Amino acid sequence: MSKVLITTEMFPEEIERLKAAGHEVDVPAEGRLTRAELLARVGEAEGLICLLSDRVDDEVFSAAPRLKVVANLGVGVDNIDLAAATRRGIPVTNTPDVLTETTADLGWALLMAAARRIVEADRDLRERGFPGWTFIPPHLGVDVWGRTLGVVGLGRIGTAVAKRGRGFSMRVLYHSRTRKERAEEELGLEYAPLEQLLTESDFVVLTVPLTPETRHLIGARELSLMKEDGILVNIARGPVVDEAALVQALKEGAIRAAALDVFEREPEVHPELLKLRNVVLTPHIGSATWATRRAMARLAVGSVIDVLAGRRPANLVNPQVSP
Ligand code: NAP
Repeated sequence: MSKVLITTEMFPEEIERLKAAGHEVDVPAEGRLTRAELLARVGEAEGLICLLSDRVDDEVFSAAPRLKVVANLGVGVDNIDLAAATRRGIPVTNTPDVLTETTADLGWALLMAAARRIVEADRDLRERGFPGWTFIPPHLGVDVWGRTLGVVGLGRIGTAVAKRGRGFSMRVLYHSRTRKERAEEELGLEYAPLEQLLTESDFVVLTVPLTPETRHLIGARELSLMKEDGILVNIARGPVVDEAALVQALKEGAIRAAALDVFEREPEVHPELLKLRNVVLTPHIGSATWATRRAMARLAVGSVIDVLAGRRPANLVNPQVSP
């Protein structure tokens, strides 16, 4: 019998699946484990199912000498020291694909909310009532349809966002590490170097993973290249944007608005962002639908069961390690 530690409350059917596979499961009844709790409880674990807010580094690996697999409940694995896992021969898995459309939906909802000032309008209506229909109301926004969308990072989620843009009759530019000629042909997308994308787009949506290359990819200089009427949407990872520079740009009116699902120092939110009206904020809920969270849990649990049974799991992030 192997012990599997899950750092978060979990759907009962997935706990049952692990037990049915013969594993002992250590899982909090609600909420999630603190780092101290994770370190204290991982000692005997052979499987670890963790959250993107869990930093899984050498300290965790040292505390877990029996660990055979780490399954991250998310597609981004910037919280995991992959080099350390690989050095120790520990396979790491993630949960791609099942969250792609759900995350793109949230990105689109944020983009629409910022463009049409939905959150501001809702807040004003609740606080001040509906003063009656006016021709030039205080919440005049900007059009989405027919304008230019720039997607930074044309992977699974970026492509799903680009498709939504095409559905809104938009010109869609993209910037990515490698050129995607098939997507250009099939979806009518245009490749652009980052500077050109920032200069020409009305909406810039970030969908790159967080890596050393993408940390602060969008800083003061990049924000200054955007249109004054431009809107920045971040559904990638907080540190992809220099938050202090973004606050400055929003305050100065260098860009029209921003919509953020992710923050540079989660769960902290820059206090100035909270004061600004031209920002829409959500607490990292990109993949947060019932169906998608269940699908993510199913994938992660499946990976742990596979590795502990000596099988190669789906979605292996460090394929150099052969379980
Ligand atoms: P993906 O399919 O791997 O796509 C990432 C894309 O970014 C790839 O096309 C990649 O290019 C490109 N890229 C990587 N480094 C780059 C760089 N330095 N410059 C330009 N482009 C670069 O991943 P995904 O499934 O779409 O997920 C993307 C990210 O979204 C995740 O890593 C995660 O951080 C974030 N996410 C957030 C939420 C949320 O709740 N807000 C939910 C899910 C995911 P190549 O194709 O050339 O490799």
